[in-house]
Amino acid sequence: MNSAAGDGAGIQTLNWINGKWTGADGGATFAVRNPATREEIARVPDCGPAEARRALDAAAAAFPAWAALPALDRANILFNVYAQMLSQARELAMLLTVENGKPIKESLAEIQYAADFVRWSAEEARRVYGETIPASVVGKRHLVLKQPLGVVAAITPWNFPSAMITRKVAPALAAGCTVVIKPAEQTPLSALALAELFAAAKLPPGVLNVITGNPEPIAKEMLSHAKVRKIAFTGSTEVGKILMRGAADGLKRVALELGGHAPFIVFADADLDKAAEGCVTNKFRNSGQTCICANRVYVQQEAHDAFVKKLVERASALVVGDGLDEKTQIGPMIDEQGLKKVVEHLEDARKRGAKVLCGGRVKDERWYEPTVLTNVPPESRILHEETFGPVAPVVPFKTEDEVVRLANDTPYGLAAYFYTKDVSRLFRVAEALEYGIVGANDPSPGVPQAPFGGMKESGMGREGGKWGLEEYVEVKHVSIGI
Ligand code: NAP
Repeated sequence: MNSAAGDGAGIQTLNWINGKWTGADGGATFAVRNPATREEIARVPDCGPAEARRALDAAAAAFPAWAALPALDRANILFNVYAQMLSQARELAMLLTVENGKPIKESLAEIQYAADFVRWSAEEARRVYGETIPASVVGKRHLVLKQPLGVVAAITPWNFPSAMITRKVAPALAAGCTVVIKPAEQTPLSALALAELFAAAKLPPGVLNVITGNPEPIAKEMLSHAKVRKIAFTGSTEVGKILMRGAADGLKRVALELGGHAPFIVFADADLDKAAEGCVTNKFRNSGQTCICANRVYVQQEAHDAFVKKLVERASALVVGDGLDEKTQIGPMIDEQGLKKVVEHLEDARKRGAKVLCGGRVKDERWYEPTVLTNVPPESRILHEETFGPVAPVVPFKTEDEVVRLANDTPYGLAAYFYTKDVSRLFRVAEALEYGIVGANDPSPGVPQAPFGGMKESGMGREGGKWGLEEYVEVKHVSIGI
């Protein structure tokens, strides 16, 4: 990593601002810990408003030249970063596992996913086409131009430390915007490692800046800086609402990728083995710390017992351990707070009468065992709040109408899943679910070419595909008299 000034406790890293590696003004730093050992692995700058302002000013100063570059030149830098991400995938994945805890295989998959956004955006950079519109009178021409928005301020979470950054940065840079990112305090190292790749690809100074530190004062600068035209945020619904309120004064665009409460529905006509396999893939990914992972599993009554048996067999076979071990399938929870929430949700459900069929225990104060619950009363917190842990509560249902109503009975609307072999039902249910992403017989819908985002309190705006790039352009009408 950049500027490895060892202090005995780990590496000391710097921020990437205006093309230079730099510390906080007063030299303050904070610790980054490995969730599997809770040991300090690095210290990063603890920046505040002054450093944030400098980063935003640098992004504003870099904008005109970056926006004016031919799209092909911008694309070539992104292609270079994509190639470096692939050639350094193992190192990047190990860094990701060490700061986030996820199993190394999942980290490798995240690096590939993150890199795919860079490649997609590089390819798409040259296709930001304008239009001409037929005039209604003689002697006029109407052109529609698409131009980069300007400076983008991005705030990202810890659960996908690499992909949540490239899903914003790559389309923004491709469109001609400049960016300041504030990554999550638990996982700043992946962000800084990405900055190193952009630096090596000779991205001009100021076009991309990474700042670590106290989120509130940094966000305040982002919201009040006149040149910032968009706030791109992934994280909790609570913080998303704070940012949206803050963006109102400057009428900045917001894109909010927020929390979810995904239903995972299994109809009796489904292939139960595929559904159980899909449920495990979906629910236990990143130890359940995934915004689009299943929070409630609804199974049609006739198939309930058979499905639960298959799910329990698979969940209890998952290997719990340090993410750096190739065999590990369930890594540690991100931190004590994350673990506490899972324990509270489990205790709440248990007290109300839920049955624990497997798991239900904390291991070595850092892991939560993969858990399946049945007999979960409807008022249980786990059926309404995002648990963000490896717990699958299974609830039986009778009819399609009933389960669609249950699935939609939430303020969230990010992702929903269902399994069926009935083609007519597949269309009916996909259309009836009030969710931005629907996986029909598919537990892993996220791909760089498709739109990703939520309805209702799961957010607004879309990342990925042509929709993701459109979010970073202004549409301008030029009306010409000839
Ligand atoms: P979070 O607490 O909202 O934090 C996300 C980011 O916001 C971090 O960088 C954090 O900084 C920053 N932040 C915290 N308080 C802030 C404030 N008052 N003003 C401005 N920024 C602030 O969420 P999280 O716990 O990291 O992430 C988990 C949540 O993200 C879950 O709800 C999950 O569903 C959601 N998520 C959604 C998607 C999606 O695409 N929809 C993807 C992944 C995750 P610090 O880390 O420095 O506190």
